Amino acid sequence: MFQNRITQLFQIEYPIIQAGMIWCSGWELASAVSNAGGLGIIGAGSMYPAVLDEHITKYKKASSKNFAVNLPLLYPDIEKHIETIIKHQVPIVFTSAGNPKTWTSILQKENIKVVHVVSSVKFAVKCQEAGVDAIVAEGFEAGGHNGREETTTLCLIPAVREAIQIPLIAAGGISSGKSMLACFALGAEGVQIGSRFVMSSESSAHENFKQAILQANEGDTELTLKELTPVRLLKNEFYQQVKAAYQNHADKTRLEELLGRGRAKKGMFEGELKEGELEIGQVSAYIKSIKSAKEIVEEIWTEFLLEKNRLSLL
Ligand code: NDP
Ligand code: NDP
Repeated sequence: MFQNRITQLFQIEYPIIQAGMIWCSGWELASAVSNAGGLGIIGAGSMYPAVLDEHITKYKKASSKNFAVNLPLLYPDIEKHIETIIKHQVPIVFTSAGNPKTWTSILQKENIKVVHVVSSVKFAVKCQEAGVDAIVAEGFEAGGHNGREETTTLCLIPAVREAIQIPLIAAGGISSGKSMLACFALGAEGVQIGSRFVMSSESSAHENFKQAILQANEGDTELTLKELTPVRLLKNEFYQQVKAAYQNHADKTRLEELLGRGRAKKGMFEGELKEGELEIGQVSAYIKSIKSAKEIVEEIWTEFLLEKNRLSLL
């Protein structure tokens, strides 16, 4: 059996982690990934407190395996989510978009492992100082909210590896055993995968969104809206409106007005492809199938071992 610091920390079979993704990763996807031997994450950023409570309850009925909740620290009702997480004794929390010093020790006192998501070496060092149990370093290729510096996974992972000693998980652009192995060569001990799991039968992404991803080609995503929260999305009609606003030298207030509220839900959960925000990674250009989460986990792991073996023979 394969074992490293990540499988031991999370008590999982394979160091494959499904990213917490707003509107796409509810209990159904998280339990399918954990039951397949990876780590499933419930994305709490889009859930009202009662919805998170419901998803954790449903997860527990569907799986006895370890799981995590992803909590973006800018979430408006964060105290309520923290209460729910502690009440349900959620074993692992992945925090993002905020200061890791605020909640890490409070969660750890409840025996919860804390992992924080970063997009730069500077923040990785801060996380280690804050005492987190592991770090996810996410490169420029990743879908959804991301760093402003545009550091790619290939540049970011080895630099973070050199700067910190705690366990490191790579994210951004990973969808196969080959890309997973490449990240291990760079110093990662686990991978976090988003886009590939959006394209699973268990993800709660709307079918229209999944079909749009199947059609996506190279160059069809872009990281934009850096003045607000930088986000990588599919270039749909909403994206064209953003682009036109930039051409007209729109200021931050104008961009905020244009974004409005609830666009991510509209696009990814309700399937409004023109007006919604369709958050997905660069790797979407190469994903040409929708599979079960179990098939995805098994394919990635099998390919990882095969490629590792092939390279050892070189
Ligand atoms: P239900 O099975 O009762 O579904 C509630 C609604 O969400 C239905 O309209 C259902 O559509 C839709 N839905 C939920 N999950 C999926 C999925 N995997 N694929 C397709 N459609 C889905 O409740 P759940 O236990 O699934 O969810 C409980 C609550 O959580 C609901 O209020 C749901 O809206 C919400 N949710 C929130 C997410 C988020 O990121 N905030 C993610 C997933 C669900 P239909 O009736 O057509 O099947
Ligand atoms: P918006 O402000 O446009 O809309 C908020 C959405 O979140 C609505 O669709 C709303 O659902 C839902 N929601 C769930 N809980 C609450 C709550 N307590 N108060 C208000 N709205 C709630 O936000 P986005 O859709 O752009 O972003 C949603 C979430 O994504 C953010 O709240 C944040 O948690 C997360 N995020 C994460 C980042 C990161 O990790 N780097 C960066 C930026 C955002 P409804 O429409 O049903 O009211």
